[in-house]
Parts: sequence; C-alpha cells; structure tokens
Amino acid sequence: MENNQEIPYKIYLEEQEMPKQWYNVRADMKNKPAPLLNPGTGKPITVEELSGVFCTELAKQELDDSTAYFDIPDDILQFYKMYRPAPLVRAYHLERALETPAKIYYKFEGNNTSGSHKLNSAIAQAFYAKHQGLKGVTTETGAGQWGTALSMACAFLDLDCQVYMVKVSYEQKPFRREVMRTYGAKVTPSPSNTTEVGKKILSEFPDTNGSLGCAISEAVEAATSQEGYRYVLGSVLSQVLLHQSIIGLEAKAALDKYDVKPDIIIGCAGGGSNLGGLISPFMGEKLRGEADYRFIAVEPASCPSLTRGKYVYDFCDTGAICPLAKMYTLGSSFMPSANHAGGLRYHGMSSVLSQLYDDGLMEAVSVEQTAVFDAA
Ligand SMILES: *Cc1c(COP(=O)(O)O)cnc(C)c1O
Repeated sequence: MENNQEIPYKIYLEEQEMPKQWYNVRADMKNKPAPLLNPGTGKPITVEELSGVFCTELAKQELDDSTAYFDIPDDILQFYKMYRPAPLVRAYHLERALETPAKIYYKFEGNNTSGSHKLNSAIAQAFYAKHQGLKGVTTETGAGQWGTALSMACAFLDLDCQVYMVKVSYEQKPFRREVMRTYGAKVTPSPSNTTEVGKKILSEFPDTNGSLGCAISEAVEAATSQEGYRYVLGSVLSQVLLHQSIIGLEAKAALDKYDVKPDIIIGCAGGGSNLGGLISPFMGEKLRGEADYRFIAVEPASCPSLTRGKYVYDFCDTGAICPLAKMYTLGSSFMPSANHAGGLRYHGMSSVLSQLYDDGLMEAVSVEQTAVFDAA
C-alpha cells in the first residue's frame, strides 16, 4: 500500500515498544482447532492428563482457546531483550533484482546465538519448567535448530537438557550436535536403543535414517520415565504458536510505525511455528473483520502436509504414544528422504494453521529444494 515516507533499511522498535503480551489467535477463531485426543480413551485430553507430559503452565496454554492475551513473564522479557526487538528489513536490493513494484519486507529472526526464531519458545518453555521446580526437559530435534535453542535456554536457567536428534542429521551435521553439547545438553541419535520405543522401531527398520516422529516418541518416553522431567516441543503445538506471536506483534508494530499496511504475508511452514507466529496478529484482525490480508504458507515439496496431506486425526509421533491431533498430515509413519533438511521434515502441520487453511483463510504452495536454490 502507498506510503510516501522514507522507509529505513531496517525498522527497529525501541526496547520500550516491545510487546509485553503474547497473542493467542485461537481466541478469535470461530472454528476452533479440533481438540487433542487422549490416545487411550479417544476423548479430548484434559490439563491434568497433559501435565504428565508437559509442564502444567504449558499444558494450560495448550488447551486454552479463549484467552486472547497472555502476559509474558518478566524473566522471559528480560531474556528477549538480549536479541529483541528483531529488525524488520526492507529488501530494497531484492526488489530491484526482481524488477518488481512490490515493497518487500522480511522479519529477521536469526540475530541470536542459536540462530533461529526457535529461541522465542525455548526460553518460555524452559522458564515454565524451571518455575515448576523440574530437574530437566527432553526433546527431539531435526536439523538441530530447536535442540540448539533449547540447550541455550536450559544452560541459562541451569536445567538438564536431553535431546534426541534425528539420526541422519546427527551424522550430517556434527557441528550442530557439538554446539548443543557445548551448552551442556546430552545428545542421542534417534532411533536409539536407550528407549523401548526406539528399540521397537530399530527392530522393525534397522537401517532407518530416523524422523522427527521417531525422535518425539523417544523424547516423550524419556520424559515420562524419569522423575522431575517433562517433554518440550519446538513447533506444531498451539503453545509454541502463542510464544512465536512475538514475531508478528513486533512486525505489526514496526509496520504501524511507518503506516504500512501489508497486502500479502508469506512465511515458510515446517510445523507452522514461525509462520503461525508471524501471521497471528494480522489473522486476528482479519478474523475480527478489521482488515484483510492474503496469507501464504510455503512448504517443502518433499514434505507437503498442507498441499498434499489429509485433514484428519493423526498421531503426533511414530510410536503412537502421543495425543492425537487433527491436522493436515502425511501420516505419522512418514519417513522423509535423507536430503539436506531431511531431519526438519515433520509429517503434520499445526492444528491452528490446519483449521485456518481448511476454512479458506490461508493459502499454501509447495516448492522443491532445487528450485529454491536456483532462484536464490
Ligand atoms: C524450525 C525452522 C523452520 C521450520 O519450522 P516452523 O515451525 O514451521 O517454523 C524454518 N526455518 C527455520 C530457520 C527453523 O529453525
């Protein structure tokens, strides 16, 4: 949209302009995402049941479809200030290279030691675990971004961190693995023989490269079989989208500062956390009828859950021990090919984004890795 003011290359917010609350887009959705189901009973899962796996505060956030704003605890705000507000960058050179009349902005979330947006939720989840007096957390990681972010957050809060890393990535990305160890995390290639579910998967598929679905099963088993541990997850979950809403809230505040109204908002979608976080406040305006935007999810052709998957209840993990979520899914036994980002490919999509997509409020496209590299 028109704006005659000179836009700087990078729009930085002042520290005092940083959002102090997360926004929960579910509160404004008419069609709520379908509830998580208890795999034992087939009934909607309760906070109490979920609290055996997740920290209690996070279990509450996961099941809360009605609270629009959550105060960000002060300790998390202080941590965010190490690397936030993150800049919104005007891509002048890309515009020129494309010879496009479009004005392109991107939100840069790589400006922290772990290197990705994942730290926004890692510090929140580690904080709630610490607050609950836990000893540590377990998790899975694919390419290693989530594991790195969580290791960093746990080191900061003096929590034990156990990471199950998809085997193909563990072997392809030794530096990622060692960064996590440098932060004090215990890193195990998955599937492994350290868990019952890992042994079972290995006996059926001895040569498997592993997948996020397998690693999740192992991490959940590790959490529930050790006293004082809970499981944490870096994407897909509604609580993660809530924490990542800081991206969209900041992007919106930066655009508002220069009176810019975006027409189209685009984001890459793996499990949906950065895209969901980016679009949440804009989607909220659309849902409340205050503004209109086009939203486009871009997903990998090698793992096209939105564009090729089915919108059904599915397990979140390969071992079928996690709650069932209704989401666009390729099936919980999906094994991605061992390409560079193989460990990052998750079979399902956030149930919030799945519902928005099914309601026609968001579009999706899939692209091939080679085409992306050619274009770049
Ligand atoms: C994890 C990750 C993704 C994909 O996951 P989402 O949950 O969809 O955001 C994409 N880019 C980077 C840099 C990541 O770390």
